Amino acid sequence: MSNVIRVFKFGGASVKNAEGVKNVASIVEKFKDSRLVIVVSAMGKTTDALEKVAAAHAAKTGEAKQLLDGVKAAHYQIMDELFDQGDPVYDAVNDLFVAAEWVLDEEPHPNYDFMYDQLIPTGELVSSTIVAAYFNKMGLKTQWVDARDVIATDDIYREAWVQWDETKANVANKVRPLLEKDSMVLTQGFIGSTKENYTTTLGREGSDYTAAILSFCLDAEDMTIWKDVPGVLTADPRVFDNVTKLDRLSYREAIEMTYYGAKVIHPKTIKPLQNKSIPLYVKSFINPENDGTFIGPDVEDHYPPMVAIERNQALLNISTRDFSFVAEHHMRYLFNQIAEHRLQVNLMQNTAISFAICVNHIDDRIFRFAKSIEKDFKVIMDYEGLELITVRHYTPQVIEMLRNGKIIMVEERTKNTIQMVAKEVPLMKRKPVAEMA
Ligand code: ADP
Ligand code: ASP
Ligand code: MG
Repeated sequence: MSNVIRVFKFGGASVKNAEGVKNVASIVEKFKDSRLVIVVSAMGKTTDALEKVAAAHAAKTGEAKQLLDGVKAAHYQIMDELFDQGDPVYDAVNDLFVAAEWVLDEEPHPNYDFMYDQLIPTGELVSSTIVAAYFNKMGLKTQWVDARDVIATDDIYREAWVQWDETKANVANKVRPLLEKDSMVLTQGFIGSTKENYTTTLGREGSDYTAAILSFCLDAEDMTIWKDVPGVLTADPRVFDNVTKLDRLSYREAIEMTYYGAKVIHPKTIKPLQNKSIPLYVKSFINPENDGTFIGPDVEDHYPPMVAIERNQALLNISTRDFSFVAEHHMRYLFNQIAEHRLQVNLMQNTAISFAICVNHIDDRIFRFAKSIEKDFKVIMDYEGLELITVRHYTPQVIEMLRNGKIIMVEERTKNTIQMVAKEVPLMKRKPVAEMA
């Protein structure tokens, strides 16, 4: 076995059913000469389903247990296709669901985000238990590691920040020694734990980030994310036709596109890899022998136009009540409040007496923010059907195509990037095609 450490991340789509788990094992088999660390997500749409369980529990609708039973049944069906009855994996998985039921047996915790983080990780824990058991059954020697013993975080539930020093020490003490043995390490993406041993999550789609954290701490040779697409494409194929695969992408391009909504990689993934020049490959689990996309240091390159769309946007127009300029002292105050309320700002624009920001519309934070500044500022909010369209390396034709049927509320251009906050034109207001000619 070589000393090369490689980190693989398999997302929900790759392990959505028994066929998927078998396919993942067949991919891993081809790389078994490397020291592999494998990060897996919850199976298929399990996280969405568990979010419904958490919401039902919090709202006391009485349906939480039944919804959890549905999640359980889906996993048992997958296990029935992979294992003989009586295999110890059934007990292990059952224990994980019992722990989830305990959360539901209690009164809903007043801190929703805390309760969420005690329940939702069940998806990753169960998935990794099934996949590790299947690998071992197929003769791929695998050690299951609880990511909560490795990824140390603060206690900002649902958006936890990694505590790097502790995490590095944990990787050195608990993961590296396992790799020295002749086996693979398999763990969960997306989850970590606080100093007090409470489970945390790193934000939706955070499994990519887990893989990058481990790659960084292990000085991995490379990291590969296995996807249901051939690699990073010029836009989301679910939204656009005529997309093409990018063979090579710089860390810079990747971070810009993913930050503004290219859902193919979690935006936090790039930094740890860039900091240690670890290459990232995005490859297809359907055609694993194909090249995919290589993401690495900057090179002189000519990029085609690349489009990212971020939905659920809110546009906040903030103006002073007394007609004074939005000057430095106002800015300092507003930025403090923005940070305080954890608004994620995607775009900003200011005039003499107003300041506009486009932010991700998450829970009720924009309302809390507006309330906090209402004494000095008037805030006009728009959050119905707004999306942020970002195009890198734009051309007039691409902009024209994207504007079609949309009202552009705010636009900002630099040499390489255009960003537009857009809203669908209500159907009745669109001009008939003949009139546009
Ligand atoms: P995972 O199984 O790892 O969770 P996701 O479903 O989260 O995978 O991400 C893969 C999906 O991302 C693809 O199926 C594709 O529809 C979408 N996607 C969005 N933007 C892009 C892009 N620029 N390139 C490739 N895929 C993209
Ligand atoms: N299962 C989690 C989610 O769906 C994390 C991940 O898949 O990356 O958000
Ligand atoms: Mg995903």
